[in-house]
Amino acid sequence: MKFNAEMCGYCGACVSVCPNNSLELTESKIIVNENKCDDCGRCTFICPLGAFYSEEKI
Ligand code: SF4
Ligand code: SF4
Repeated sequence: MKFNAEMCGYCGACVSVCPNNSLELTESKIIVNENKCDDCGRCTFICPLGAFYSEEKI
């Protein structure tokens, strides 16, 4: 899963829905640990601002 930091409103919703704990909320941004991500898509659906996208959709 790819992430557009400029679109992120920093609400933290995506962090709690990720089943693989691949999203990390730091003081100023979300970090995507792609090694742990299996592209389940949960973060894409939960994000109110559409900050996540998969490479296939570009
Ligand atoms: S696609 Fe799934 S596993 Fe990957 S970051 Fe989003 S919620 Fe986590
Ligand atoms: S759900 Fe979207 S807006 Fe909220 S912290 Fe995650 S990426 Fe940012």
